[in-house]
Amino acid sequence: MDSLFTKIINREIPAEIIYEDDQVIAFNDINPQAPFHALIVPKKHIATLNDISSEDESLVGHMIKTAAVIAEREGFAETGYRTVFNCNEHGGQTVYHIHLHLLGGKPMGWPPY
Ligand code: IMP
Repeated sequence: MDSLFTKIINREIPAEIIYEDDQVIAFNDINPQAPFHALIVPKKHIATLNDISSEDESLVGHMIKTAAVIAEREGFAETGYRTVFNCNEHGGQTVYHIHLHLLGGKPMGWPPY
């Protein structure tokens, strides 16, 4: 059974796609928590951060680099932004296909709870 995000990657579910290359896709979050809130998702299905293997390290690095590229393109690289990976229940993960949240466009609070 494909994950929700695999269905977005395969165009079986619509999404506002803002970036795509051979390794990742990025689209606007359906329930934004900031003026800008997108998700960077690997095309390879990996359920949680705990499932990342050593061979996935460059892919995860590419996800982070993609967040920085999008932040630059959107014009908030200098003012700043937040990236978040949620993992499992206590981390608040609801979709079991790893994704990097990219939030920007306003000052963020800390701690995040
Ligand atoms: P998590 O809680 O870290 O797993 O984040 C899952 C994110 O996916 C949440 O911020 C949701 O709002 C978002 N989301 C769920 N379904 C969709 C969708 O169909 N399109 C875009 N974002 C979605």
